[in-house]
Amino acid sequence: MAGSCDQIRQAVLAGATGGEIAALELPDHVVAAVTHKDEQTMFEGLDPADKDPRKALHVEDVPLPPLGPNECLVAVMASAINFNTVWTSIFEPVSTFKFLERFGREGELAARHDLDYHIVGSDASGVVLRAGPGVTRWKPGDRVTIHCNYVDLEAPTGHDDSMLDPGQRIWGFETNFGGLAEIAMVKSNQLMPKPEHLTWEEAACLGLVSSTAYRMLVSSNGAQMKQGDVVLVWGASGGLGGFACQYVMNGGGIPVGVVSSEDKVRLLNSIGVQHVIDRRADDYRFWDGEVGDQSEWRRFGKRIRELAGEDPDIVFEHPGRATFGASVFVAKRGGKIVTCASTSGYEHTYDNRYLWMNLKTIIGSHFANYKEAWEANRLACLGRIHPILSRTFPLAETGDAAYQVHRNLHYGKIGIRVLSPEDGLGVTDPELRERHIDAIEAFRHLGD
Ligand code: NAP
Repeated sequence: MAGSCDQIRQAVLAGATGGEIAALELPDHVVAAVTHKDEQTMFEGLDPADKDPRKALHVEDVPLPPLGPNECLVAVMASAINFNTVWTSIFEPVSTFKFLERFGREGELAARHDLDYHIVGSDASGVVLRAGPGVTRWKPGDRVTIHCNYVDLEAPTGHDDSMLDPGQRIWGFETNFGGLAEIAMVKSNQLMPKPEHLTWEEAACLGLVSSTAYRMLVSSNGAQMKQGDVVLVWGASGGLGGFACQYVMNGGGIPVGVVSSEDKVRLLNSIGVQHVIDRRADDYRFWDGEVGDQSEWRRFGKRIRELAGEDPDIVFEHPGRATFGASVFVAKRGGKIVTCASTSGYEHTYDNRYLWMNLKTIIGSHFANYKEAWEANRLACLGRIHPILSRTFPLAETGDAAYQVHRNLHYGKIGIRVLSPEDGLGVTDPELRERHIDAIEAFRHLGD
């Protein structure tokens, strides 16, 4: 007889042993946040800003996928909203069903992903329920966080850096069976130990953005920040930026954060970021829709110098089209612009004279390999990098949560309670938590 997710929830909350978890019957269906293939053209003709995730994200019963080799089923206690769930739910810049179709053509196991619904979500914390054939490092009952680098490593090109593998995908975005579901299916090499001093929902907001910021700033694959570097961080109180500021301060750098409101300036000051620019109050107009405005880039550069005393060694880029010209312009001679996204548009214009004459480098970066994600998670486990969770929603309200992120109404990360019935559960190291409680809760309840 099939089990239920309620039984799984009760077992996890009661602290069931690995043996007890392994003995639980699995349900044949789970509740998940999905998009529908037959709705992928529903927003055609609308401006991306007017496409509403609440209309495209449905929370409904779906079958539990069959477990394959080197995979695990994880009971998801909590998940988080990432911008990629916004992209999926507004079918921008392309429908993610295209990714699932392409993946599905790769073979029998991959074909499981090519469905007429897409279970989204690229972050989760929870408990391993089942480990498939070939899994040796993880077992039922293990408490985990999940990172979203989904890769087999069959090709030789991925063996120095798995992000270079041609089969690399982002779980829950380019694959099905993501984290916004009562049970998620992952590769075992996506699992990492859950930080014991964090709640389920705090642990669930680390994987994607913290690992991405780690690779961009710290890793030898990114900008390799060193002590004393001035780092300009766009969107410094958002998902990526909130972690980027912490990595900069942690590594002895000097962050200059850019945000769009007074309360965000105060928030960053409260976590130790002394230099913060309110781009809205200063009314910068870097990009008029067609060309960049160099006088505005210059005004911005002057403001950074006033605050930090010098130009940025590193610019942490992701807004894209609206800011990229300014980012290239303000970077120091020999400086680096590290970019992982183009939220405001992916065709960028910048003045190349400032790049080549001043020997600057643009570094493209994308998520993180397992080692980088593991290092980022390790820093969280040690209490050196903290979650930036501001508020949570239940799984049933995933659309509303994604709407908040789409409209830039949020701070840091928005968490989603999945099997966890309330906030605050899952902590097994209260002493470590108490030592860092102010930092852990710095973003909490903003925007409630
Ligand atoms: P987020 O939580 O929404 O934060 C982004 C921040 O950027 C916002 O808080 C906003 O801050 C700022 N911003 C937005 N539009 C801007 C504009 N036109 N000019 C200047 N600043 C602007 O999102 P996120 O999670 O940090 O992700 C940011 C982007 O990176 C998304 O496009 C996402 O898909 C991408 N991403 C890529 C990867 C990767 O591996 N390649 C990984 C993670 C995220 P203010 O309004 O306060 O300035």
